[in-house]
Amino acid sequence: KSVLSDAVQRIKPSATIAAGTKAKELKAAGHDVLSFTLGEPDFTTPQHICDAAKAAMDAGDTHYTAAAGTLQVKQAVCDLYARFYGLEYDPPQCVVSNGAKHSIHNVLTALCGPGDEVIIPTPYWVSYSDLVGLTGAKPVFVETTVESGWVMSPEQFESAITPSTKLLMLNSPTNPTGATYPPETLEQIARIAVERDIFVLSDEIYERLIYAGSEFRSFASFGKDVQEKTIIVSGVSKAYAMTGWRIGWALAPLEIAAGMAKLQSQETSCPSSISQAAAVAAVSGPQVCVEEMRLEFAERREYVLQRLKELPDLAYAEPGGAFYAFFDVSAHFGKPLGSKGVKVDNATDFCTALLEDQFVALVTGDAFGAPGYVRLSFATDLKTIEQGFDRITKFLGGA
Ligand code: PLP
Repeated sequence: KSVLSDAVQRIKPSATIAAGTKAKELKAAGHDVLSFTLGEPDFTTPQHICDAAKAAMDAGDTHYTAAAGTLQVKQAVCDLYARFYGLEYDPPQCVVSNGAKHSIHNVLTALCGPGDEVIIPTPYWVSYSDLVGLTGAKPVFVETTVESGWVMSPEQFESAITPSTKLLMLNSPTNPTGATYPPETLEQIARIAVERDIFVLSDEIYERLIYAGSEFRSFASFGKDVQEKTIIVSGVSKAYAMTGWRIGWALAPLEIAAGMAKLQSQETSCPSSISQAAAVAAVSGPQVCVEEMRLEFAERREYVLQRLKELPDLAYAEPGGAFYAFFDVSAHFGKPLGSKGVKVDNATDFCTALLEDQFVALVTGDAFGAPGYVRLSFATDLKTIEQGFDRITKFLGGA
C-alpha cells in the first residue's frame, strides 16, 4: 500500500514533460534526437525584458512581494487588457502566479471541491483533468471531433450541464489541436454560462499566436454579465518566449481573485520578484517582438501543413492558433512501420516506435484524451522541422 495521499495517487505525471524527458535522455545517450514534444518557444527572451530583470536585481528588488504580485505588474496586466480588448479590470482582480499552470491550479482550488463537476472539451491540455482531480471535483469530458474543427458546440456544452456543474474549462486557441473558437460560438457558450450560472475558466495563453484569418476574442469581452462569470488565465510564457520565468495571471471577479490571493499567500508567498519586473517590461514594453515571433511561427505552420498534406492518410484540422499540429495516425495501425517493419495498434506505441526507429519525438494523443492522434509542436526551427518530416515520411514507408 502506498504512503502517498489519495490526491497524489489520483494524478498522473505530465505526459508532455515525460515525453520531453525521454527525448532528452536519448539525446544525452548520444542519439540524434529531434524533439517536437514541448510547447515551448525556441526563441530567447527579448533583450529589453532581460534588461528589466537585471535592473530589478541591481535595484534590490529581490525580496518577497505582495502575495498576488506587485501593484506594478498587476496594473500592467490590467492596462494590457484595457488596451487590447477594451476590458476593465482593477489590480485587486488580478492574481499573478508562477505560470499559467499555477494560475489554473489556484482557480480550481479556489472554486472546486468534491461534489462539483467541471466540463472539459476533449482533446484537452494534459494538466486539466489531473488538476481538477486534485481538488476532488469530477472532470466531465465533452468530445469534439476533427470534422467540427475540434470546437465544442454550444448544444454540446448545454447538454453536459448538470445541477453539479461548477465550471467550464475552455482553451482557445487550444492545446493540443490549435483550434480557435469562432467569436459567435464563444458568445453562444457565454450566454449559456450566464443563464445556467456556470463559471468559465478561459485559458487564453495562446491569444497572441493566431494565424491565417482566425480571430481571437477574449471570453470576458461579451458583456459585463459574462465578465462576472469569467476567469481569464494567461501569461508571458508563450507570447514573449518566457517559459522559464514562470509568470502567469488570472483576472477574475473580486471575490474569486481575493480567494486565490489568500491561497497563494499560504502556498508560495508570491511569484519571483525578478520575474515580475521582467513581466512588467514584457506586457507594457514594445510589442514588436511578439509579432516577429508570431510571423516565424506562421511560416513554420505553413511548412508543417504542406508536409502533412504530402503524407499518406493523416487526418487533421488546420490549426488557427498556438504552435501545434495534431493529426490522426490510426490509418497506419496494423501496417509495417519503419526500418524493422514494426506494427502498432495505438498512438502511444506509434510514438514509441517512431522515437526508437527514427529518433523523432512526438506526444501521443492518448495523453490529451484523443486516441489515434499525435501532437507535433512546431515551436522549433524550420530545419529541424524539415528533418523531422523527412524521418516521419521514411517511418511511414515513404522515400
Ligand atoms: N495552458 C495551456 C493550454 C498550455 O498549453 C500551457 C503550457 O503548455 C499552459 C497553460 C501553462 O503555461 P505556463 O505555466 O508556462 O504559463
